[in-house]
Amino acid sequence: MTAHTPIRLALAGALLAGLAAPAAAEGVVNLYSSRHYDTDEALYAEFTAQTGITVNLIEANADELLARIQNEGANSPADVLITVDAGRLWRGVEAEVFAPVDSETLTRAIPAHLRHPDNLWFSFSQRARIIFYDKERVDQPPQSYEELADPRFKGMICVRSSGNIYQQSLMAAMIAHHGAEKAKEWGAGLLANLARDPQGGDTDQLRGIVSGECAIAVSNTYYFARAIRADVSGLSDSIDRIGWVFPNQSDRGTHVNVSGAGVLKTAPNRDNAVKFLEYLASPSAQEYFSAGNDEYPVVAGAGLSPSVARLGLFRADSLNLGELGLNQAEAVRIWDEIGFK
Ligand code: FE
Repeated sequence: MTAHTPIRLALAGALLAGLAAPAAAEGVVNLYSSRHYDTDEALYAEFTAQTGITVNLIEANADELLARIQNEGANSPADVLITVDAGRLWRGVEAEVFAPVDSETLTRAIPAHLRHPDNLWFSFSQRARIIFYDKERVDQPPQSYEELADPRFKGMICVRSSGNIYQQSLMAAMIAHHGAEKAKEWGAGLLANLARDPQGGDTDQLRGIVSGECAIAVSNTYYFARAIRADVSGLSDSIDRIGWVFPNQSDRGTHVNVSGAGVLKTAPNRDNAVKFLEYLASPSAQEYFSAGNDEYPVVAGAGLSPSVARLGLFRADSLNLGELGLNQAEAVRIWDEIGFK
């Protein structure tokens, strides 16, 4: 991450100098990103090599970036916002910061359910939220999200807290498929099956299998793939003990979420921003972009990184991810009503 510093300082300097109006600099695209992977650097360098357009990068967490864009208003230098989770992209839509992008390159490359219906944002990599289990303790793991509420798994399951956006998006998907009432029943059934109070990040759910606290855990695929590729303490050494199930393969497919990006309404370098998104959808960039966080590409024909290939291919739920945002507030309400921590 340190190699980003000169660029970041350059842009910060420009901001400190008090830009009266956004500079429509030639050959620049200003990127606000909540991704923070070293591989992204090489990805941006390749874009510059192909187009001559310099990438200026501002990194922060998603909510900070969105707040910053809103505070900067018409003077924002930001051209593109990149973030993870459809729920956060939804917040960007709600805040009306995105402008639609009419690009045949993007609409042809990216499946319809992985972009906003009005093309306000596009997904560039995807992750599945799947079921992991202790092969030593569980003979017949749940095969669907619905089965996580089956009483035969009482006291066995570990998940994140409902304050986390992944847990909210999963509930939002359940609402979309079953309606609020059934989704609430499901949530209560899941709560009754927990091995411990919801806590920690996704890696902690997986570590819970290794420590013996959790027989079953729900996590995004990339946390597991990362522990295959690199040494993750408390996890990598015992990873062979963990099995996994892509839920709902016999019906609607597995719940997925995405890394995505949109061009901002106030973008001073709009043409470059669109070029940048089109570049991210190219097969070589796709392989790099997804591998940066052990994710799946979104464009057909792009290769899987070795860690992701080990997890394997699956059928994804084709629910439009915009729906997750629509149901987000209701998802939060339901988790609260159930008393899910
Ligand atoms: Fe994550």
